Amino acid sequence: MLTNNLGYPRIGSKRELKKACEQYWSGNADLQSLVQTGRDIRKHNWELQKAAGIDLVPSNDFSFYDQVLDHSLTVGAIPKRYHEVILNKGNSELDLYFAMARGYQKDGLDITAMEMTKWFDTNYHYIVPEFLKDQQFKLFSTKILDEYNESKRLGVKTKPVLIGPVSYLLLGKEKEAGFDRIDLVKSLLPVYIDILKKLEEQHVEWVQFDEPFLAMDLTAKDKAAFKYVYGEIKKHFPGLKTLLTTYFGALQDNKDLTLSLPVNALHIDLVRSPEQLAAILAGIPAHMTLSLGLVDGRNIWKNDFDAALSLIKTALDKLGADKLMVAPSCSLIHSPCDLDMETNEAVLSVDIKQWLSFARQKIDEVVVLKQLALNEETAVPDLKANQSANALRRTSALIHNEAVKQRVAAISVKDDQRGKPFASRQELQHEALNLPLFPTTTIGSFPQTPEVRSWRAKYKKGDLSLAEYDALIEKETEETIRFQEDAGIDVLVHGEFERNDMVEYFGEQLAGFTFTKNGWVQSYGSRCVKPPVIYGDVYRPEPMTVKWSAYAQSLSKKWVKGMLTGPVTILQWSFVRNDQPRSVTCNQIAFAIRDEVADLEKAGIRIIQIDEPAIREGLPLRKADWQEYLQWAVKAFRISASGVKDDTQIHTHMCYSEFNDIIGHIAAMDADVITIECSRSQMELLDAFADFKYPNEIGPGVYDIHSPRVPAKEEMVLLLEKARTVIPAAQLWVNPDCGLKTRHWEETKKALVEMVAAAKVLRESVEEAVTL
Ligand code: GLN
Ligand code: ZN
Repeated sequence: MLTNNLGYPRIGSKRELKKACEQYWSGNADLQSLVQTGRDIRKHNWELQKAAGIDLVPSNDFSFYDQVLDHSLTVGAIPKRYHEVILNKGNSELDLYFAMARGYQKDGLDITAMEMTKWFDTNYHYIVPEFLKDQQFKLFSTKILDEYNESKRLGVKTKPVLIGPVSYLLLGKEKEAGFDRIDLVKSLLPVYIDILKKLEEQHVEWVQFDEPFLAMDLTAKDKAAFKYVYGEIKKHFPGLKTLLTTYFGALQDNKDLTLSLPVNALHIDLVRSPEQLAAILAGIPAHMTLSLGLVDGRNIWKNDFDAALSLIKTALDKLGADKLMVAPSCSLIHSPCDLDMETNEAVLSVDIKQWLSFARQKIDEVVVLKQLALNEETAVPDLKANQSANALRRTSALIHNEAVKQRVAAISVKDDQRGKPFASRQELQHEALNLPLFPTTTIGSFPQTPEVRSWRAKYKKGDLSLAEYDALIEKETEETIRFQEDAGIDVLVHGEFERNDMVEYFGEQLAGFTFTKNGWVQSYGSRCVKPPVIYGDVYRPEPMTVKWSAYAQSLSKKWVKGMLTGPVTILQWSFVRNDQPRSVTCNQIAFAIRDEVADLEKAGIRIIQIDEPAIREGLPLRKADWQEYLQWAVKAFRISASGVKDDTQIHTHMCYSEFNDIIGHIAAMDADVITIECSRSQMELLDAFADFKYPNEIGPGVYDIHSPRVPAKEEMVLLLEKARTVIPAAQLWVNPDCGLKTRHWEETKKALVEMVAAAKVLRESVEEAVTL
């Protein structure tokens, strides 16, 4: 039995890589020191894993930005627009690489970055490969060979990790019409053969091929490509040990295909799908080794050794120890680095800490599981400790709150229904709110200047008293209200200056949430996030936003929107409990938000926005599972929004533009108004509204807040005219794409003035039409 690891966090437990990259980018450090930081991290990771007892330690899992981009460089899939960067003397391979990741604005060149998108259903983003019809591939970067040799020199014989050829192609995008990227597999394969030949010359033993698409829906062509490439690889390298890894889901209908591939070992995710083990054991060919993904690479909970051991035992009985590996479910890049760094008990209590396990601890768990499976006496104390920690967690009063459980269990049909249907509510709201046609508003946040952030830092450090801090936030809020009034915006916001982050702010005030000091996970490039941990039943001990919303409303005769984050987004951007279904946790959060909505209404707030930017990214990877998710996600939103009177107006907001395939469910959320990102796709989204008559009011974002560019009134008028062809005037709002917190004041003010002017042009055109 071998212990196997698929990938280890590369950011460094103190985010060393982030700091080194940013220093290099800003010109404050040279290439040499960046390269050295990379070397130090790899050495640390390899030695740590080897010392812990991992047999198959990965290499090439390190990356300065993203492993998919590494691979594009490896196989020479470098879009033409970067060729000038290569030719530019003085640029290293890393400079070219960062140019692809981040764009290149130097030496009179202005080259855009490659597109970035989410890695399956994680919060990690990868750089999308770009393919042309006559795409050529050739071995360009030798990173994989260099890292393998580097590890060997350090006395750790590693297992190089490659993105498998089929998944690599499927992760990419065709950049011109007239071909299917999977057809490139014939020209891509020779590069793999080349790499493997060179690795074999260096006496590599195992090579890992990541093929997560084997757990997704595949076409007949994709399946044929799998058969072709792995058949060819075996033909060329009969002596090489190949490990095919799948994760994030079950093989399901791809099981027979996968088991028919001529590879030496197969890795499966038994955390996401423990039930797939039986079917795989029934069909696995005699020569194939099975790597059991037992330790959750996606979450922060301590493993349940008893449950894992029972799966190992089932596999042992069938396959024997020689044909088994024990492993985390997927690469550990989705876990924070090291729980031992959490020494501040005021942040993470010891009671909760004992239930957790980060990457470093997960490595130990894998090793202990193997020892226990082989009946090694030395591991028995670890088993006892694991059992007692998990037993405490099952019954802890910190986690379990009967009142919360009962409230969720007692959900009735009334809880997710507004009083009257939308058409009647709309009339009541128009009367009560008295807004003009094409009302203007913003999404919630205004610029979070370094100054605003410094106040929060000072307050946390104790350099500002609460009263001083509040006074500063009050002043900033008041100025923002005045600006919006002067600009002529119809529905105001308070600006969100008191918030650090739209999930953290709520997590800090809800029961059942905790935080970490160093629980960083890579999101993209040098950007890391520190998700809150939902460990227990969630409820709202006290109002969370009423003070600031009521204050802002008291400053103006115009309506000021209350601003909340929705239950699905809070769930999606946190580490969640694994001891109950996600839907149950989501409903608990929904009731907490519902209570907040009710208190805002009581405080005189008549328009309340519940943001759900993450609702789409929660979609399951397999289409067959979409309905179930959408049903509970939409219901949770409705629970949070339905406790108000009919003339209180509920808004929601979503970003990232691919909503076309779930538009019916978005309508089912039944928000009175939705503001939605779509200016970057030039209102492509509106096609969906042409086919599907969206029943409620809607504000398709009229300018892109991700860029400092100030759009002219005329541009926005054009977009709005386009929107009017599919959305009736009485339903149309005018607003930016998303919150303004990353922008500067200067461009924000200018852009909003133009936006208000655009709305006026539209109103005038309607008046003219009426008088004609
Ligand atoms: N209300 C939030 C803001 O304006 C919404 C952020 C988001 O959509 N991601 O910042
Ligand atoms: Zn947004």
